[in-house]
Amino acid sequence: MTMDKNFLFPEKPLFEEGGPCFQSVLLVGPPGVGKGTQGKLLSHIPGIFHLSSGDMFRELDDDSELGQLFHQYATHGEFVPDDITIKTWQNYVRTKVEQKAYNPETDLLVLDGIPRNIAQAELLSPYINILRILFMVCEDREVMFERIRGRAIKEKRRDDADELVARYRWDLYKRDTEPLIDYYPQEMIRIIDADTIPAEVLHQILSVIVPIQKKCFSPPHL
Ligand code: ADP
Repeated sequence: MTMDKNFLFPEKPLFEEGGPCFQSVLLVGPPGVGKGTQGKLLSHIPGIFHLSSGDMFRELDDDSELGQLFHQYATHGEFVPDDITIKTWQNYVRTKVEQKAYNPETDLLVLDGIPRNIAQAELLSPYINILRILFMVCEDREVMFERIRGRAIKEKRRDDADELVARYRWDLYKRDTEPLIDYYPQEMIRIIDADTIPAEVLHQILSVIVPIQKKCFSPPHL
């Protein structure tokens, strides 16, 4: 597919060399593992800014060039190309900072769904300081497909409605995303057992995140 990237991104690039470096935690896990549920819960906590790349794309105007491009990829379960994804991410972060929804001085950035592969990890590395990687694990594949089927109905997601596409996304996750776990230093990885009730998953996630948040952002008296 050919496209005019200047048309998609008319503004200048978000960050110049030596720009901000966001204190970040990554959420990694297959589709349907519950990242969205946890992300929503985390986004209510002061001092945490949860950024889901799927939500970022879904927030695009459906009629915009970029919005249409996203739907072309997402309906087939394909990843949006890496350079477009990272530029979209940059624009999105800039907007959130400008809107004061995300304050890099006080908020821990929880990245969900991005980076999606090693190429994206490399493109993102100048901008983020990764403190921990939360690897959400659910051994039972069928539990995840059941959740995706539920989500298709509840959230009217076109990419979830097609069982074949859902299974393809799962294969793509195994092929391109899970290798991130071996790519990063092992001491950064924390395994989260996602095959339990949401409150218990949240409990595990917070037990990792809270000490990081206190260490990186709390005023000295806390
Ligand atoms: P899921 O976790 O179920 O795969 P997401 O909501 O994270 O769903 O993503 C939905 C779609 O958005 C993906 O299938 C893909 O087309 C696109 N997408 C999201 N994040 C990325 C990314 N980091 N890189 C490329 N495409 C992405």
